[in-house]
Amino acid sequence: MARSRVAIIGGGPAGCVAGLTLHKLGHDVTIYERDRFPRYRIGESLLPGTMSILNRLGLQERIDAEDFVKKPSATFLWGQDQAPWTFSFAAPKVAPWVFDHAIQVKREVFDNLLLDEARSRGIAVLEETPVTGVD
Ligand SMILES: Cc1cc2nc3c(=O)[nH]c(=O)nc-3n(C[C@H](O)[C@H](O)[C@H](O)COP(=O)(O)OP(=O)(O)OC[C@H]3O[C@@H](n4cnc5c(N)ncnc54)[C@H](O)[C@@H]3O)c2cc1C
Repeated sequence: MARSRVAIIGGGPAGCVAGLTLHKLGHDVTIYERDRFPRYRIGESLLPGTMSILNRLGLQERIDAEDFVKKPSATFLWGQDQAPWTFSFAAPKVAPWVFDHAIQVKREVFDNLLLDEARSRGIAVLEETPVTGVD
């Protein structure tokens, strides 16, 4: 496979996961991020499928070390009568990367972890570098 130079605009979760994936495939990745991390984002609820992606990118140990709140299920107050609607994340663990729970993350911690991991794997990460145009 040809090795390509890839520019990613934005070092949030989407940019970092794209960057880590492309780097794993052998491409030269640069992430341009407008802000300096850690930066505030509202706290966020992940899904078990997201855990699988992070696990397969080799991020499990770092995520476990943060001790984020584990979520085995979720409840919505739904409809006009606001009756609780609960669903479980339980699933048979048929592979190491299949999860029966999700986590609730502090985004400033989670996003910083992803960007830091990208940098530590050799991805060029340029913070405080807004992209204003693409030639
Ligand atoms: C109130 C609220 C609640 C939410 N709750 C949930 C939830 O519970 N669960 C869930 O899964 N999702 C939730 N979301 C959605 C989730 O926050 C987004 O889908 C997620 O942040 C998307 O990640 P991202 O990396 O695409 O974007 P972002 O996290 O916004 O990252 C984009 C990055 O790009 C940078 N950037 C932008 N423009 C430039 C530029 N020109 N040059 C350089 N850098 C640039 C920004 O500084 C930023 O760091 C919620 C969203 C909101 C608003």
